[in-house]
This record gives sequence, structure tokens and C-alpha cells, in this order.
Amino acid sequence: MAFKDPLLNAVSNLARRRGFIFPTSHHYGGVEGRYEYGPLGTLLKQNIAKEWWRATVTDKENGFAIDSSVVQHPQVWETSGHSKVFGDRWTRDLLTGEQFKLTKGEKVKHLQSDLVIKAPSKKEAQKWRNIIKQELAPNARTFTQGTDITMRVESVTDSHIILAGNDGPVHVVHHGYLAPGSRSPFLHEPRMQGGLSYCGDTSPEEMAEDFVKIVEDNSGASRATLKQLFTDKYKERNRPLRPELAQAAFQQLNFVCNSIDKRFPFSLAQIGKAFRNELSCGPFIYRLKEFEQMECYHFLETENSERHALDLSIDRLSWWRSLARKRSNFKSVELDKDDLAHYATNAVDIEYEFPWGSEEVESIANRTDYDIRAHGEAYDNTFHHHDGTRSFVPHCVESSAGLDRAVMAYLCDAYDQRNAASDTTRTVRPVLSLHKRIAPVKVAVFPIVHNKPELVQIARVLAKEFRAAGLYTMYSEVNSIGKRYVDHDEMGTPYCITIDSDTIEKGTVTVRSRNTMVQEPMLVTDVVGALVTFYSRDDLSAS
Ligand code: ATP
Repeated sequence: MAFKDPLLNAVSNLARRRGFIFPTSHHYGGVEGRYEYGPLGTLLKQNIAKEWWRATVTDKENGFAIDSSVVQHPQVWETSGHSKVFGDRWTRDLLTGEQFKLTKGEKVKHLQSDLVIKAPSKKEAQKWRNIIKQELAPNARTFTQGTDITMRVESVTDSHIILAGNDGPVHVVHHGYLAPGSRSPFLHEPRMQGGLSYCGDTSPEEMAEDFVKIVEDNSGASRATLKQLFTDKYKERNRPLRPELAQAAFQQLNFVCNSIDKRFPFSLAQIGKAFRNELSCGPFIYRLKEFEQMECYHFLETENSERHALDLSIDRLSWWRSLARKRSNFKSVELDKDDLAHYATNAVDIEYEFPWGSEEVESIANRTDYDIRAHGEAYDNTFHHHDGTRSFVPHCVESSAGLDRAVMAYLCDAYDQRNAASDTTRTVRPVLSLHKRIAPVKVAVFPIVHNKPELVQIARVLAKEFRAAGLYTMYSEVNSIGKRYVDHDEMGTPYCITIDSDTIEKGTVTVRSRNTMVQEPMLVTDVVGALVTFYSRDDLSAS
């Protein structure tokens, strides 16, 4: 795992070294778009999920939990529209050759009077200018200065950028976006790529048998007919894996309403795996083919779901920020109408400033009554609900956050380096300043040396007491005490407790803080209570 960006490289190296994240099946070269969590990563992920669960279910009067299947009936995805329109439009920059998801580029409609294309070097700028003059926009006036190629924009229509030319305006077809990085408008016709992932319990041999039989039974059939027959057979044998969790909530809604006797508004929340056939994965665990989502569906009787989505996005942003060190790195962005998913009428994305740019970690979408109505119409028309006086079709505002993206964002947020004056081998060393609520290990307990049985005994008993008090505790007696502190700084452990001769003589332990590196004595009889109080305090401080 090597990335161009130094911070991303450092975070991914630390994640592997300290047992947070590993590539799946790494003995065999990994599996594209799949990663696994080690001992610390699993706890970090669970702690984030716990915080989310608290904010959406257990702390809410009207928040309820559900848990649904990865495989839904295939008709669910037909009715929801995912079978037809799910996937992303991908394109290729004709100057750089780079492929990208169309919507990741800058919007053409925001173009001002000049279009400035950015080349990586002067030599490349000259080369690109020649390609533009000879092939892509002959006659357009171009100026090269350093690594910039500038063209004058006269106007922009829905389909064309009109550039100033030597013999009059030059019309260049656009697809709504400029390439990220180069800002080139010269893009290949976008194609729908990716979409649903499938799973089946048919062996490859059985599938091959099916296909051979289709060919034998349909000799002389056209290519298109065979393709359709193969597709139908494939779909009969394989089920789509859910690309989002939400559809189960729309299926369950009537059952839930009957079982909990709740009036609208209320919300249903769930955490689970989702699968997408992503064309290009990464960096690291940012875009995966198999990932976890934390989704909450707010069912409203009001049609004012647009306002609700905006209000919810404020709550969600403050949740992300509440667990962060550099809070301003999280922001919310209201989506343009042309960037909305097929089911949404307005949406807000929460973005995090990753090392390579600001990217989505959660989306809050106003799905209106789109899904409930669609499933109701497809099933038995029982999609109206009643509150005694009126009948209505509930609206749904959904928040959908990526749990793996949360792990990645908080690892980047927490990663820091500090000078290690007493460390002769390295001048700087990493520290993970994770928020106390999500730090995997809450406390580490060490005897100062491993060969003093009385110190070892006290340390083990104290570690047991911390565990009994509900704090995840690690016990360690290997390496020097300084090395053990350094190790736990990298693991993000807020406090280390050392048992030494003072424990026997004065009844005190040394409490060492990850954030300040200060070591302070505390009575051994007080230390469990002090840390339990620290972790139960609902303040925002990480230490
Ligand atoms: P993107 O624009 O990054 O492709 P999206 O708009 O397709 O994301 P949504 O359909 O809104 O994403 O999904 C909700 C959340 O699920 C996202 O905000 C993200 O955190 C997470 N998510 C979506 N796709 C992936 C993926 N391939 N890998 C990891 N997390 C994902």
C-alpha cells in the first residue's frame, strides 16, 4: 500500500502496523475494493457505530432500530429504480487520459470569462495546446503561460462552451463538468458504469451448463437474443446484493407501525453491509466494493420534508464534528438539482477534507414519498397511513453515512507527528489523537518491569478492575516503559497507568496522558473511578 500523498501513506502504514486495517486475503495479493479490520480497527469501527447508534436510536424518544437482509427480492430493486439507473457516469479526460466519475469534476456552468487548463509541466502544456489546436478545438484562440493554457469563454449553453476563435466562435461540446485537476473540458462521452453487485449459489460449472444449453436450444438466434437469454438466466440464478440498506425499511414500515403503535414522525435506523460494483476503488478504504453504512430514515406525515432534510443535515454535521479534533475539516454542501440521486428532490452531503480533497462521508436526502408510493403501487396499494383524521403517504428523509469512511476520516483527523526529544532513533513519531469516545483502547496498564512478580500481580488486578468497570484495557509488560508509551500513542490510547515501586511504598500509580505526555501520580484506589468519570463525562474534550 503506497500512496502519493504523504499523510495518506503515513495513516495507511500506521493502520497496518498497529492492527487497524489489512487488505483482504493479503497472502494472495488482496481482493480489489475489500479490506478487513484488525483488533484495534474493529474496536474503532464499533465505537464509531456505538456513538451513531446513541445519537440516532438510544438517545431519541422516537428512534427505533431495524436489521435487514443483504439480499432482498429482485423486484425490490426494479421498483426502487436501482436496476435501471444505479451506477455512475464515468468519462476520460482526452488530454490526460485519466478516467474519473463525471460528477467529481468542477461544474461547467460555473465557468467565468476564461477557461484555464492546468498542465503538470511547461512541456506538457505545449503538447496539450497542440492537441487542442489540431484535434479538439481547431481555430479556438489559446494562450500558454507557464503551465496554464487559457481560452476565452464567450458563453456557455446546456451542451456547449462557446470559445473565442480566430475566425469566429468555436463550439465545444461539454458534459457538464471539467476534469478534476486539469480542468479540461475535452472529455470522452460519459458511460454508465458499475452498479449492482450480484451473488448466487450456482456453481460456475452449473452456470456454464445453463449457457451451453441456451446456445444449443437456440441455434441460429441472434446475438441480441442470446445475450437477453443469458442475462435472464443470470438474474434468475443470482440475486442483487443491496447497494443501500434503505429499501428494507420501506418494506418493513407497515409492520413497524403496527408493532410499536407509534404516530409519525419517527425514525428507523440500521447499520449493515452494502455492496457496489465500483469501477475504481480507493484511495485506501475510501471507496470499496463491500462496505458498511449507517442509515436512518425519518418518516414524516408532513410534506415539508425539504426543510426537515436541511435541519437534519445540521444535526448530522455537528455529530461528525463532535468526535473530531479539527472540526472545521467537516462541512456540509447542499447538492445542485442535477447531482441528486434518482429518488431525491433535495440533498445535503457532509464532506471531510481528506488529504487529497474534500469528499463525501454522508448524504442526507429528501426521498419524499418516492419509495413508499412506488412499493405500494407495485404491491397492494396500502401505502396510505391514517392518523384518525386524515390519510397521507409518509415522506422519508434519509441520512446515510459510510462507516468505513468514518474510520478513514477519523484516522486522518487524529494522525499527528510530534518531536520525541528523548528518542534517539527517530526525531518525530506519530500519535493518534483519537477522541476518547472512539479510541479503541481506553486504558493501558503496565508493571514498570516484567520481572517483579508483586508489581505484575498489582498491574494484572488493576487491569481486571478497569475491565470490570467497562473500559477496554490492555495489559503489557514487554519492552521499556518509554517504548510502551510510544506504542500506545500510536494506538490512540488516551491514558497509560504504570505500576512501580511507589505503588508498593506510597500506594500511587503513574498516570501518563497521551495528549500532554505529562506523568502524574494518583492513588491506586482512585484511578479506576477517575477514569470511569472521565469516560462517562459527556464533554467534547478528547482528554
Ligand atoms: P460517492 O459520491 O462517494 O460515490 P454516493 O453519493 O454514491 O457516494 P450514497 O449513495 O449517498 O453515496 O451513499 C451514502 C454513503 O455511503 C456515502 O456518503 C458514503 O459514506 C458511503 N458509501 C457509498 N459508496 C461507498 C463505497 N463504494 N465505499 C465506501 N463507502 C461508500
